[in-house]
Amino acid sequence: SLSDRLTATFKNLRGKGRLTEADVDGTVREIRRALLDADVAVPVVREFTAHVKERALSEEVSQALNPGQQVVKIVNDELVRILGGETRRINLAKNPPTVIMLAGLQGAGKTTLAGKLAKWLKGQGHTPLLVACDLQRPNAVKQLQVNGERAGVPVYAPHPGVSSEFEAPTGDPVVVARNGVSEARQKQHDIVIVDTAGRLGVDADMMQQAADIRAAINPHEVLFVIDAMIGQDAVNTAQAFNDGVNFTGVVLSKLDGDARGGAALSVASITGKPVMFASTGENLDDFEVFHPDRMASRILDMGDILTLIEQAEKSWDKDEAERMAKKFVDQEDFTLEDFLAQMQQIRKMGSLKKMLTMMPGAQVSRQQLEQFDERQIDRIEAIVRSMTPHERRVPKIINGSRRARIAKGSGVHVSEVNSMLERFTEAQKMMKRMASGGGMPGMPGGRA
Ligand code: GDP
Ligand code: MG
Repeated sequence: SLSDRLTATFKNLRGKGRLTEADVDGTVREIRRALLDADVAVPVVREFTAHVKERALSEEVSQALNPGQQVVKIVNDELVRILGGETRRINLAKNPPTVIMLAGLQGAGKTTLAGKLAKWLKGQGHTPLLVACDLQRPNAVKQLQVNGERAGVPVYAPHPGVSSEFEAPTGDPVVVARNGVSEARQKQHDIVIVDTAGRLGVDADMMQQAADIRAAINPHEVLFVIDAMIGQDAVNTAQAFNDGVNFTGVVLSKLDGDARGGAALSVASITGKPVMFASTGENLDDFEVFHPDRMASRILDMGDILTLIEQAEKSWDKDEAERMAKKFVDQEDFTLEDFLAQMQQIRKMGSLKKMLTMMPGAQVSRQQLEQFDERQIDRIEAIVRSMTPHERRVPKIINGSRRARIAKGSGVHVSEVNSMLERFTEAQKMMKRMASGGGMPGMPGGRA
């Protein structure tokens, strides 16, 4: 998976405080491969990675993330943005009915989606009407009627109950669409869903028909339904439908299959239109509002890393970080109070061990994990609390008798006070190095 591959890339990023072009190139190369694996169209991948690289190199270095994580976060943010940002809702008409037209190639999943959408909207208290405008394919009207029945939603069709499966209903789909909308208005349905015909490939006649239907009913939404398995063809198909019917939103169908959803990124990127719904099976309930953030992690296949990044960012206390940074500038001494604050900052980052083992490239040794034992942080806290304020500020005065007193006061053995003071001295040295421009080695949340 991409996670595994990025882990390898991140190893090379360890110990660096800022993003260099070489760092970014390595990560971007892995992202490019992942996008191609997810069947994102080649020109889209090219444009996307170029944009990510540019952003990664221009952005300020994060306090909370290491460079590899930072690039991944940029990639994720960009994916979410292109896929539509926040989930977009159906644009409801001020004066009902809201008219929703479906468009897409034959077999894309329009008629199935019509039933799903109708059922979903009905469940939200709407009173939809389905309109059958695919008068091309034998049995298409019947198929919508079956779906309508399952959804408990009425269907407007030119020939209710076509007698033979093989007899295509006659009539003008533009007229049917217009009459269907009138019917909805008359019978006070608040939403009309207009199913249309598609061809196996993009075809001028079909596109003209769809454009004519659009012009006749002036829909509030035109949803372009596209099979998630379409792969590289997504670009041409989406472009043709965007030019032909100027759709307002995208529905990705057959996401229950093997497809990683690269088509979503291709379509959204080429047309600038948001993905609104996902179809995930043949049953009417296999339908979801589309969540750009979830799709982004599906495309990149790295949910774990993203969770980790979110956690690290949330728990990194900005104020505390700024206070520390200011201290370095002031060249003040790093005291035991600071050491304790730092430990508590680390503890705040949640389940530490799990985080450290999940973190790609963190390369945490067993020994380091032991050092981050949370109970040990408790003991350090107890030890520091048993010191006088003066001892905390000027630790070098803590001699043998003071150590014995502190050990007694905090309920630990003197050797623990000793080793804690040793670790403090180490941390103090590290802080001095950082103050003079080095990194923050081995600290979660630091630039590991
Ligand atoms: P249309 O030609 O665009 O109206 O497409 P249909 O709605 O007739 O769907 C074509 C085929 O794909 C049918 O066999 C559907 O059952 C199937 N189908 C539609 N949506 C999905 C989906 O989300 N997942 C799966 N597995 N099959 C689907
Ligand atoms: Mg159909």
